[in-house]
Amino acid sequence: MTTEITTPQELQKMDPVFGQLSFDNHEQIVFCNDKDTGLKAIIGIHNSVLGPALGGTRMWNYANEWEALNDVLRLSRGMTYKSAITGLDLGGGKAVIIGDAKTQKTPELMRKFGEFVHSLSGRYITAEDVGMVTADMDTVRDVTPYVTGISESRGGSGNPSPVTAYGVYMGMKAAAKYQFGSDKLDGKKVLVQGIGHVGETLVDYLTKEGALVQITDINEGRLDEVSKKYGASIFTGADLYTAEVDIYAPCALGATINDDTVYKIQAKVIAGAANNQLANENIHGPILQERGILYAPDFLINAGGIINVYAEIAHYDKAESMRRTENIYNTTLEIFDYAKTNNLTPQKAAMAIADNRIAQRKKENAK
Ligand code: NAD
Repeated sequence: MTTEITTPQELQKMDPVFGQLSFDNHEQIVFCNDKDTGLKAIIGIHNSVLGPALGGTRMWNYANEWEALNDVLRLSRGMTYKSAITGLDLGGGKAVIIGDAKTQKTPELMRKFGEFVHSLSGRYITAEDVGMVTADMDTVRDVTPYVTGISESRGGSGNPSPVTAYGVYMGMKAAAKYQFGSDKLDGKKVLVQGIGHVGETLVDYLTKEGALVQITDINEGRLDEVSKKYGASIFTGADLYTAEVDIYAPCALGATINDDTVYKIQAKVIAGAANNQLANENIHGPILQERGILYAPDFLINAGGIINVYAEIAHYDKAESMRRTENIYNTTLEIFDYAKTNNLTPQKAAMAIADNRIAQRKKENAK
């Protein structure tokens, strides 16, 4: 999250792991390779002070290994902040599998990945992320208990995305209250970028409340389907970042708020599910603030999924997960207040609170 997306050539000039821009004192990076199944994966454990490092596995057709490493470093760090700010006793970790999930994912590959997860004896617990479905987590469960988000029929909590969407909706309402004086979203123009697992459910919540929702996705088939199902309009403009909307909800991939887009954005609130929305939190967060755009920190408002899978570790209770997720509304308002009082961006405010919690626990653990 701290780091700037940079070119593969620039990445290669740096020291291979500890010298990467995204390296932020990560505790452990595990490179997993299996010739027979074609598995190439990287597991990143950023910080385990608060508990085992829990975070999803992403399967993505990365342009090269540098990009995959950069992603796992950024994502695992984000998980540390997400769990810390949400009050969960979990550390931050994440895994990436290099490859096309549509054509290269096999049960054998997922089982082999599960064996690598198992070899870490619970220091890392996996879950679903982009390119994964609940059935993949079930396959991993065949070889290791260190996995969450398995099917309800197997005692798990199933797909976390609907809970994530509920948390994003709560965070968006809190941001609307702060920015517009009311958390009512009816009549508000909202642009949802990415209508996958999370984006679709978010569209459902928003249209039910009467928001004027526009959707955009690279998958055109999905656009027609979701548009018809919820009565959302398909965004047809040339450049979505210049769209005259009240709220922009990034729900595809990260780093959409970057040098190219940050001055174009017309929305007054940014609140979405994607991880690492700010390409560089030190640059783009302050620019948004100067431009009067309220940014709801991604790792704070997209924590519904982790709240849901965390519950699975002890005893899963859906109602309790939804109640805790609803509380994202209050936490988001608290962060905005803290940011204002301390003259910080919301992102930095949320990070400061999370850092304090980790430092406090470290002290307690040392006693
Ligand atoms: P998904 O893969 O189901 O959906 C992503 C959607 O974005 C797809 O429909 C894809 O076609 C679309 N997309 C990809 N690139 C795009 C682009 N350039 N422009 C427009 N659309 C594009 O993923 P998801 O589970 O819905 O997650 C969405 C985001 O939220 C991801 O960044 C993920 O890491 C994050 N997130 C998800 C969860 C969860 O519970 N699923 C939890 C926390 C964070």
